Amino acid sequence: MKRMSDELEAAAHHVANRKQKDMIDRYVSSFSRGSVPDHEDASRYWIKDKGPVVETYIGFIESYRDPFGLRGEYEGFVAVVNKSMSSKFSQLVDSAQEFLPLLPWGVEFEKDKFLRPDFTSLDVVSFASSGIPAGINIPNYDEIRQNEGFKNVSLGNVLSAASQDKRVTFLTTTEDQGDFTDLRGKAFEVQVGLHELLGHRSGKLFSKDKNGVFNFEQDKVINPLTGDKISSWYNPGETWDTQFSTIASTYEECRAECVGIYLSTDRNILRIFGYEGAEAEDIMYVNWLSMLRAGLIALEFYTPETKKWRQAHMQARYVILRVLMDSDTPVFNIESVTGSDGKPDLLIRFDRNKLETIAKPVIGEFLNKLYTSLQQMLAQDSYNKYSTVTDDHLMLRDTVMARKMPRRLFVQPHTSTDTDGSVVLNEFDSSFEGIISSFLARYPNNDTELESLWRNDQHYWKQK
Ligand SMILES: [Zn+2]
Repeated sequence: MKRMSDELEAAAHHVANRKQKDMIDRYVSSFSRGSVPDHEDASRYWIKDKGPVVETYIGFIESYRDPFGLRGEYEGFVAVVNKSMSSKFSQLVDSAQEFLPLLPWGVEFEKDKFLRPDFTSLDVVSFASSGIPAGINIPNYDEIRQNEGFKNVSLGNVLSAASQDKRVTFLTTTEDQGDFTDLRGKAFEVQVGLHELLGHRSGKLFSKDKNGVFNFEQDKVINPLTGDKISSWYNPGETWDTQFSTIASTYEECRAECVGIYLSTDRNILRIFGYEGAEAEDIMYVNWLSMLRAGLIALEFYTPETKKWRQAHMQARYVILRVLMDSDTPVFNIESVTGSDGKPDLLIRFDRNKLETIAKPVIGEFLNKLYTSLQQMLAQDSYNKYSTVTDDHLMLRDTVMARKMPRRLFVQPHTSTDTDGSVVLNEFDSSFEGIISSFLARYPNNDTELESLWRNDQHYWKQK
């Protein structure tokens, strides 16, 4: 902790503003005196420092690893704003009023005014922790969160690292394989932007406030599912989460994913992301193909013994696969074949000519049902129906599990300064050798101080 404090004191000379200086001072005093209130104060300065180019947070943060769920794991990260991604995202938000009407529900189902999200895309330079999250929502001090705020950021390169993986299963033609590995990163960027910025942010929940005032025109709005007037809504204190605990989050994730694929067919949106002509068409196709493939791989996250889904997004993608499967005109099929290794394999064949004519309207109709019922506080039975894994799909799951790829390794870069003072990014191979080289580069000499701390620690626990 002493070394930590010394480094932080050195960092305090390079801050961008007063809040960052105050934050670091509190970290130092927290780490050198063991003071939690000082760490809380550091967190207060941190949330007040809005949208910095370099973002960093450090301390005993998440309690996931503690069996008691109390003790925070020591972690710290440094990330920088991804300016080009953030500018595409803000253009999309600026044009939200133009794109929201493309969604399959009428204006009366939209908010009167689009609430501009505070959404920054950061790239991690270094995240020191047992696991690297794709997004963060901290500090965890409840009192500060409730009364003073928190930060919510997406860690873009954690997500995109996944799409650089060249290993692709379950795709048919070499053409699909090629398009997929080349374009899935770009397609994913479009999908994430649409999911977060227009997906979760579109629409309004019909509600009545404590004075009995409705946020919609009760005698004018017609329920598209029944053709009757709206007869249910949220009362004060009720939210989608409180009313529909177990399916609440997957249902909403499914809505955002559907909005993503649905709007990814819009050429103007693709243009905002910088794609036109044949490339734009291919990205659209790869985005839908990715969704189908994700719906199949989702079966890894289903436990047949308990008949339960373990991950909200994966359940949502499986539902999308099932909805498309139910289309009167087939748009894709999953073929059971023998792989080149002689073992069972699966191939997805998606007819790209039917993407806009058949698949898009099918998703639009489903999305409309899904959302308009959410607005009226009615859950759709069809969500549970589509989430129920069929016997056929349990058989597909065996192949999916057998072909499951080993967990990816994240090997993070180091930064160092050159003789002329410029910063150098040193990257390592994503392999065990890469991890070892990265440690050797970080700790080139035997560190007797660290070693003796480690030995004392072992000795201490043996005595306990
Ligand atoms: Zn989401």
